[in-house]
Amino acid sequence: MKPSEQMKIERVKMPEQDPQTRIKDFEEVNLGLTEELAKLEAQRCLQCKKFPCIEGCPVQVNIPGFIDAVAKGNFSLGAKLLKETNALPAVCGRVCPQEIQCEQKCVRGVKGRPVAIGWLERFVADWAMAHETQSTSQSPTIQPNGKKVAMVGSGPAGLTCAGELAKMGYDVTIFEAFHEAGGVLIYGIPQFRLPKEIVLKEVEALKNLGVKIELNVVVGKTVTIDQLMSEEEFSAVFIANGAGLPVFMNIPGENIKGVYSANEFLTRVNLMRAYRFGEYATPIIRGKKVVVVGGGNVAMDAVRTARRLGADPSVLVYRRSREEMPARIEEVHHAEEEGIQFELLTNPVKVIGNEEGWVKGVECQRQRLGEPDKSGRRRPEPIEGSNFVFDCDIFIEAIGTKANPLITQTTPDLKVNKWGYLETDESGMTSKPGVFAGGDIVRGSATVILAMGDGKRAAQSIDQYIKSKKR
Ligand code: FAD
Ligand code: SF4
Ligand code: SF4
Repeated sequence: MKPSEQMKIERVKMPEQDPQTRIKDFEEVNLGLTEELAKLEAQRCLQCKKFPCIEGCPVQVNIPGFIDAVAKGNFSLGAKLLKETNALPAVCGRVCPQEIQCEQKCVRGVKGRPVAIGWLERFVADWAMAHETQSTSQSPTIQPNGKKVAMVGSGPAGLTCAGELAKMGYDVTIFEAFHEAGGVLIYGIPQFRLPKEIVLKEVEALKNLGVKIELNVVVGKTVTIDQLMSEEEFSAVFIANGAGLPVFMNIPGENIKGVYSANEFLTRVNLMRAYRFGEYATPIIRGKKVVVVGGGNVAMDAVRTARRLGADPSVLVYRRSREEMPARIEEVHHAEEEGIQFELLTNPVKVIGNEEGWVKGVECQRQRLGEPDKSGRRRPEPIEGSNFVFDCDIFIEAIGTKANPLITQTTPDLKVNKWGYLETDESGMTSKPGVFAGGDIVRGSATVILAMGDGKRAAQSIDQYIKSKKR
């Protein structure tokens, strides 16, 4: 097709579940492209010589290559090319913030809308899951090398590192504190954005490579890093325990019943299956009126989850304006469609309880934007005398998380920075020889694909480290 004809094709629309239906269930909102839509969208790609889109992808997916395969209807080749660099394409196609990564660099975005790289990635990965059995997807022949490596945590960083090392012949064990593997992909991101079945299939694929997963093991409590290395004879350890310790606002009334951190709320709903109400008797309070504070993906997930559990109104309170919101544009748009009430330039100052000690409202104060702060975003300033109360029976705080100090307290030779995150060198090794780290525990709360990139790099470094010890 000539470039002039390609330029005339408009970006396709993602089929979606109707908002009025989807607020009553936890089914996925985006339904995925059909084969026809995927081929049409793939034809928009100009196969640019310098591939700027690849620069925008933290794991350097061969974007033009896999898209060309889609355009030609060779989905199997597309899947093969994708999996060369991306261990979890079905996950990334759904949750990567493409608009600030690969798609932001796409030349088609200069004069219109970029190629829908994420949607095409999802299409190819889903196609492969539906059509390729293990034998057709050519699992590599693995030669065991007799060396043991431990992963702490089974989020995207730990899963990716485990997969890479298993393919090199290492005997890999993942130690996971929760009773299910997947990290935030399982306990944080809701079913309506990332179905659990997809993560479970990826975990199964790892097990087929020989990776062992030990659940309900809290490293730092059940076993220490030193014990893993000395008593259990692991040659190296990769710490990928995320940064899931909730941060609270420190406002009066936070200890009143009915106040949740988003982390606890989402974990109860996702990991303890409260989203399948009727089938599971998970202890979760299903508020009639819910207020969530925060402006990121986590806040958006919490408020949309509360809406699906029946809260009306479900209110999102954020102290800056919409432009400063860190959440993905698509999630904000979906939340609006689902009737989430956005209260911008508003900040909670106090939680109010009833006589029985349960939340009955949140006092808030309106804000105006002042000069930019260190982050470059305009600083919110309180407007005196603007206080008012939102009636609610649940208040959820989604203002961030930080590192859990459990592992560093029990392994004092691990150096941390002033925020409590692990310090590593360029190879991903911490201050303790043989102990590597990556993902949120090094970066602070970041993204799935960055955590995966760390896992991949660490696997290479661990291999080199172990080989250098043998000499
Ligand atoms: P995690 O995914 O946090 O996994 C760490 C694992 O380690 C967990 O399973 C935990 O139980 C386990 N663990 C912790 N301590 C121990 C211990 N002591 N012993 C054993 N195991 C331990 N990113 C995106 O790119 N797109 C999104 O749309 C997006 N949405 C998000 C929504 C929510 C609600 C949240 C919370 C995060 C979201 N993120 C998103 C961020 C992204 O999920 C994280 O950056 C990513 O999961 C970090 O990966 P990780 O492997 O470092 O850690
Ligand atoms: Fe884009 Fe993420 Fe896929 Fe990379 S992994 S191409 S950033 S969607
Ligand atoms: Fe295709 Fe856009 Fe990449 Fe060019 S920049 S190769 S149009 S995806």
